[in-house]
Amino acid sequence: SKTQVGFIGLGNMGNPMAKNLIKHGYPVIASDVFPESCKELQELGAQILDSPADVADKADRIITMLPSSPNVVDVYTGPNGILKKVKKGSLLIDSSTIDPAVSKEMAVAAEKLGAVFMDAPVSGGVGAATSGKLTFMVGGPEEEFNAAKELLSCMGANVVYCGQVGTGQAAKICNNMLLAIGMIGTAETMNLGIRLGLDPKLLSKILNMSSGRCWSSDTYNPVPGVMEGVPSANNYQGGFGTTLMAKDLGLAQNTATNTKTPVPLGSLAHQIYRMMCARGYASKDFSSVFQFLREEEGQ
Ligand code: NAD
Repeated sequence: SKTQVGFIGLGNMGNPMAKNLIKHGYPVIASDVFPESCKELQELGAQILDSPADVADKADRIITMLPSSPNVVDVYTGPNGILKKVKKGSLLIDSSTIDPAVSKEMAVAAEKLGAVFMDAPVSGGVGAATSGKLTFMVGGPEEEFNAAKELLSCMGANVVYCGQVGTGQAAKICNNMLLAIGMIGTAETMNLGIRLGLDPKLLSKILNMSSGRCWSSDTYNPVPGVMEGVPSANNYQGGFGTTLMAKDLGLAQNTATNTKTPVPLGSLAHQIYRMMCARGYASKDFSSVFQFLREEEGQ
């Protein structure tokens, strides 16, 4: 039988990801600062422990799925962190989207204790997490990639090796900058079409058979009533929070500044998502930029 896998961070993404590990026969040992998040997994037979250190004491393969860089630093290096009790030879995989520099720091700290840290952020959203169809972008020692892939392929359809630690994050940050630009573009385009008297369902059908098609138009349309089973059909609840998108765009800005790379549309997207956070959209799905633009019309 398969040996146990630790999982820390059972939020919108971590919860369905951990469920897929259980489905593939891995006993899961989990922890989350917010005990409510552990309920469903516990009912499926997962063992729930108080802290990341307790998880590291029992499992030598651990996946973390946390909101942002400070949470990752805390879960790995904090007083009750993984590194307090990590076993030699452990494989630690962080699937959160964070600053690549923090991934590199965590890898150095883990290596000092004889453990391997890899970054493996994901693309695909809650739907793909639930159906086990995520894309993982993996950075770290190449000789550890197959061991990581064994676990990640239970949760994803694509597991792609990117290079040394931090390069998974680099790929993810680039993807999300384009995602944000595409989502804002889709939202403002749909709004313009509606104002010109087009039926939103018809307009999205035309976009999706034309050159304006993108993921935000054909899989995650931001206009309520155009698609079912997406956050726009559910008052923008669940999905990928506006705060998290603003965070990812901030990461893109930092890396662009450090490398003197021009990213004008990425900068504008960052500002739009930050304005949304300040105006009550923080916990709504990022496709709520459509609603934000409608309110900006002031009528
Ligand atoms: P979330 O906020 O829903 O879940 C994060 C979980 O981590 C929460 O349950 C929280 O209680 C827990 N947590 C926070 N600090 C902790 C700590 N110190 N110890 C233990 N648990 C802790 O976030 P999410 O939507 O699941 O996203 C997680 C990561 O995945 C983020 O970095 C996000 O950018 C990325 N991501 C999200 C999506 C998406 O569609 N939601 C898609 C791709 C990538």
